[in-house]
Amino acid sequence: MKGLSVGVDVGGTFSKIGLVAPDGELLRCVSIPTQPRAAPRDFASRVCAVLDGWRYDSLGLGLAGGVDAATGALLFAPNLKRWIGFPFKREFARRLKVRTVADNDANVAVWGGYAVDLKKKPRCVVGVTLGTGVGGGLIIDGKLHHGATGSAGELGHLTVRAGGAPCNCGKRGCLEAYAGTRGICRIARRVMRRPPSPLTPKALADAALAGVPGARKVWDEYGTWLGIGLANAVLLLNPDAILVLGGVARAGRLVLDPVRRVFAAQPFREPFARLALSAPAERDWGCVGAALLSREASS
Ligand SMILES: [Zn+2]
Repeated sequence: MKGLSVGVDVGGTFSKIGLVAPDGELLRCVSIPTQPRAAPRDFASRVCAVLDGWRYDSLGLGLAGGVDAATGALLFAPNLKRWIGFPFKREFARRLKVRTVADNDANVAVWGGYAVDLKKKPRCVVGVTLGTGVGGGLIIDGKLHHGATGSAGELGHLTVRAGGAPCNCGKRGCLEAYAGTRGICRIARRVMRRPPSPLTPKALADAALAGVPGARKVWDEYGTWLGIGLANAVLLLNPDAILVLGGVARAGRLVLDPVRRVFAAQPFREPFARLALSAPAERDWGCVGAALLSREASS
């Protein structure tokens, strides 16, 4: 098939390598350990070995951290510290001889949701990814917005409570400190008499749907913090739509209903009145988005 592209979603523990059709369908997907203590060149060699025999026109990388889009070098990457500064984009372009792009993992995931689920119709979209951490991506005028240093859209580190819970970034009161996995587990331990064990967002979603006492309250609090963070983004950017992605977004209405309540309570109505809020069915948005973004660069 013509026009296939490859997306590589590089996480701190595992990386997914996907072959993606122009409409965003994931045709093939291979997961490999990232091994972030090994040299970045070794990682590139292992990805290239997987790609041996695949036919594709372009390749996109989504890297967990701040990325210099020109070279594909990580600038800031708490989970891939030893790879900071390595020019991933140049390295893959040189080895594979195809057009290559590299971007932040949340940015590429949001691009995937924007291109496939929203069909690139709205011009301004705020995307948030809910997982271990909270990432974000901004689409402005139909394009990913990178900002002056490639750091735009770091929604996870918006302050939602001054002096609040400590965040992995070193600051207090970040959205991620409440809406990341550690955050929801902390809320559950405080609110529920018997939190599920092992304590995971999936177990908390199952508990809420099964009517376990306190579980719904956990999601209400979680969604309220998320709503406060997203409301700040809405007041800043006045987007057409908000996309909620990532593993925790599978909880669907448990996450979205309290966000809607926060939005409905905003006295400044206009930016919230016609705002579309959705959590598209989970798929490997990182792989899909990275691949589709590389098509964008090649067209
Ligand atoms: Zn933070």
